Amino acid sequence: MQKIKCPYCGYVMPLTRTKSAVCRGLFIKCKGRRCGRIFEIKIPEREIK
Ligand SMILES: [Zn+2]
Repeated sequence: MQKIKCPYCGYVMPLTRTKSAVCRGLFIKCKGRRCGRIFEIKIPEREIK
């Protein structure tokens, strides 16, 4: 399982993904206190780490 991090501040979001997860077009607001930016969670199909 991998954590989803905010690309702006690096805040670790309360979300986890499995290695096989594929995602796009899903937006979430960063929970970081000084951030609060909305970013897209993009997990391309071929990205397997
Ligand atoms: Zn953030």
